[in-house]
Amino acid sequence: MAYGRVALVGAGPGHPGLLTERARALVEQADVVVYDRLVSPRLVMHAKPDAALLYAGKAPGCHALRQRDIEAMLVDLARDHALVVRLKGGDPLVFGRGAEEAAALRAAGVPFELVPGVTSAVAVPAFAGIPVTLRGVSRSFAVATGHAGDGLQTHLDALAGAETLVLLMGVAEWPRIAEELAARGVSPDTPAAMVEWGSRAKQRSVRATLATLAAEAKRREIGSPAVIIIGHVAADASLGAWFESLPRFGERHLIFASSMREALAHATQLEAEGAEVMACTWDRARAVRVAEMEAAVSMAAQGRSVGFALRTALGVEAWYCAVQRAGLDLRRLGHVKLAVVDGYVAQAVRERGLVPDARSLGEMARLPVEVWFVEAQSGGRDADAEAACAASGADVRSLHLLEPRLAPAVPERWRPCLRAWRDVVAEWLADGPAERWALGDPALVRPLAVEVGLGGDALRRADAFGLAAAEAAYGA
Ligand code: SAH
Repeated sequence: MAYGRVALVGAGPGHPGLLTERARALVEQADVVVYDRLVSPRLVMHAKPDAALLYAGKAPGCHALRQRDIEAMLVDLARDHALVVRLKGGDPLVFGRGAEEAAALRAAGVPFELVPGVTSAVAVPAFAGIPVTLRGVSRSFAVATGHAGDGLQTHLDALAGAETLVLLMGVAEWPRIAEELAARGVSPDTPAAMVEWGSRAKQRSVRATLATLAAEAKRREIGSPAVIIIGHVAADASLGAWFESLPRFGERHLIFASSMREALAHATQLEAEGAEVMACTWDRARAVRVAEMEAAVSMAAQGRSVGFALRTALGVEAWYCAVQRAGLDLRRLGHVKLAVVDGYVAQAVRERGLVPDARSLGEMARLPVEVWFVEAQSGGRDADAEAACAASGADVRSLHLLEPRLAPAVPERWRPCLRAWRDVVAEWLADGPAERWALGDPALVRPLAVEVGLGGDALRRADAFGLAAAEAAYGA
């Protein structure tokens, strides 16, 4: 049997900037993305709109899927899909069971690729301002699992001698491990730190000593997933709280937009300032249908007097894609009229080297056009625009860009793991409140907010972000 390919991909500790280029490219190409609890939902924003998203998460104490099931799932999925990406927190081979998954794939004859990731063992301390090695302070570091079942006890003698000891999965066992280390001669005053959800908006850290860390962490309710660092580096102040001091650290923003491409451009801006961003977009919630747009563009290419009234950045993208797919030179469409009332959408048109012919309903009504195509959003027609176009005596047709998205085809057994985009967003929202923004007219994306249970809340227009992003692009 010919299998597709599986990529075992390290996703880093959560911050989107810590996804490697190869990891991002694979997520972008994947037909299926299998992710779990330690992978930030934000990273799944890079997936293709029609990629199947499967959650193989294990919450602590409740193993949603056993390791053997995940291995069987990967083999099954590779049967029907060309590229399956298994996204894993941190590095796949640092307590990630990546080797077991690779062995299962090899045994089944499934070709695979392994993409190392930025491990939390180094990156999470770094995001909390703790260097794992430091000239004159620590010349080595050891990384160990604190998981009780993994035989830590027998290795404590060696680990007690490490200059820097980094523990993963150590929160539950920490009080006992601290006692054991003290019993092996590690001074109770040795600096020690615990960093929870490193590199995410919810990152919190506590610095204390071997003797006091357990009580301090408990008092501040800092817990799993966390990295524990023991050694003099845990008291080092060289880096300060660099990440937590970024201007937007701790802020969470949920962007509602027509297109994920647009949302990602804005996310990058906010993230550069330390914020965490997630997006909910029409091109994820629905399938984008190209047939009507292609037919309209082909009519325009035949020289007919045609106008397009576009309401969203997705409409502009779809129009431009249809032009490109038809292999058209834009100059052949010089007679085509473009009407864009919303300033944000007008910006999207200008970014493609075009200037709208009409910016208001009045201007639209005056344009000499035989056939107007008016973008309809999610079943909602733009009655005002249609009336304005009809006023000039033109033939008015609504252009439907969205249709219901069918659930991706995955074997019956794994269907319970399938996640729709709104589930991924809901998962991110469960971490805490977020500011909500609309790119473009808030009325057009409000139904998306309803789908993720935020229908009653105010949506602010994010024009300020939009313009800043555009300036940065021009200035580059
Ligand atoms: N392969 C992963 C580790 C998996 S074991 C890696 O290389 O990072 C899971 C443990 O990793 C958690 O219990 C926690 O100790 C640590 N971890 C992973 N991501 C983390 C994060 N963002 N913040 C704090 N700890 C994290």
